[in-house]
Amino acid sequence: MNIGIVGGGQLARMLALAGYPLGWQFQVLDPAADACAGQVARFMQGDYHDEAPLTVLAAWADVVTFDFENVPAEAARILGQQVAVYPPAEALAIAQDRLHEKTLFWELGIPTPTFATVDSLEELHSAAQRLELPAVLKTRRLGYDGKGQCVLRTTEDIEAAWQALGSAPLILEKFVPFEREVSILAVRDRQGATAYYPLVENHHRDGILRLSRAPCRRPELEQEGWDYAHRLLERLNYVGVLAIEFFVKEGRLIANEMAPRVHNSGHWTIEGAATSQFENHLRAILGLPLGSTAAIGHSAMVNAIGDLPEQFDVLRLPGAHYHAYGKTPRPGRKVGHVTLRADEPGMIRAGLERVLPMVGFSPDEFG
Ligand code: AMP
Repeated sequence: MNIGIVGGGQLARMLALAGYPLGWQFQVLDPAADACAGQVARFMQGDYHDEAPLTVLAAWADVVTFDFENVPAEAARILGQQVAVYPPAEALAIAQDRLHEKTLFWELGIPTPTFATVDSLEELHSAAQRLELPAVLKTRRLGYDGKGQCVLRTTEDIEAAWQALGSAPLILEKFVPFEREVSILAVRDRQGATAYYPLVENHHRDGILRLSRAPCRRPELEQEGWDYAHRLLERLNYVGVLAIEFFVKEGRLIANEMAPRVHNSGHWTIEGAATSQFENHLRAILGLPLGSTAAIGHSAMVNAIGDLPEQFDVLRLPGAHYHAYGKTPRPGRKVGHVTLRADEPGMIRAGLERVLPMVGFSPDEFG
């Protein structure tokens, strides 16, 4: 089987690495000459707005998928005319725009922060008054890892936030004083079978995911998350892995956003689940039976942002797994991750005390 991937970052790289043992071939398309998936897969440098490379990819591939959601709608359309493309273009289009995403959550009865669209400074003032501050102003499109957003705490923050973000369509949403952040990863195959990974607890700093722990044993929350994921999978006639990020407030889930792809909060599944999110995504889009999503013991995944920790220091820790994405270190860039896997949660805590300082955090940073 030949699998084409639009986008050649670390997600494409890990998809390819998961697929080779099953005998599949990969080709990635990315505008950057040094896209890190190019080190492990056939690589084509090309612009997503350019029809020629898309056509070459479609002609080579049996199925095409994505490693990021901001694929131009026209690219998805061109590919879809020539080859099977999963997840469906509608899921991409919805996930690209926070307004569409939140509207869909609302339609499906999935709680989400109260929101208002903002297209002028006057609208921002009136939305801030209606929603009451604090609130978060976000660009509707192209926001990720906390980019393209500002927290408004008082009315004095409005003007500066508008200056920073006002050139693009915006959404203002109520600030959620959450107790914790969690995510659900779900997968649906071409026949409509579904599977759900255990609930994951996530910790962000500066809008970037730093630590994920799984399984997060909160059965009521997990059931609620699986139910919401099921609604989205069915409504979108989805194929592949879908990730949904939630806030937890007063013991209930509030959906923040969804990602129509494999997700950073699922990297622990490489060593920590019976079948990784990457393999299950590939199985789903190829029409193969899904693998078990059961956790194997306990896992914690720590992102390496900007720089990699010393390999020797990580690998000497029991149950530690080191992933380097082959990227040039740069501030704020995800360059790798470490997964700790153990049969006992105590071992994970002990491992985190050693790993967190290696990536710039105090041992007890995340409680
Ligand atoms: P996002 O880009 O929407 O995933 O936001 C990145 C991070 O910013 C989230 O993981 C939260 O930690 C924080 N955040 C985003 N929206 C809100 C909100 N409405 N209330 C509180 N925190 C938020």
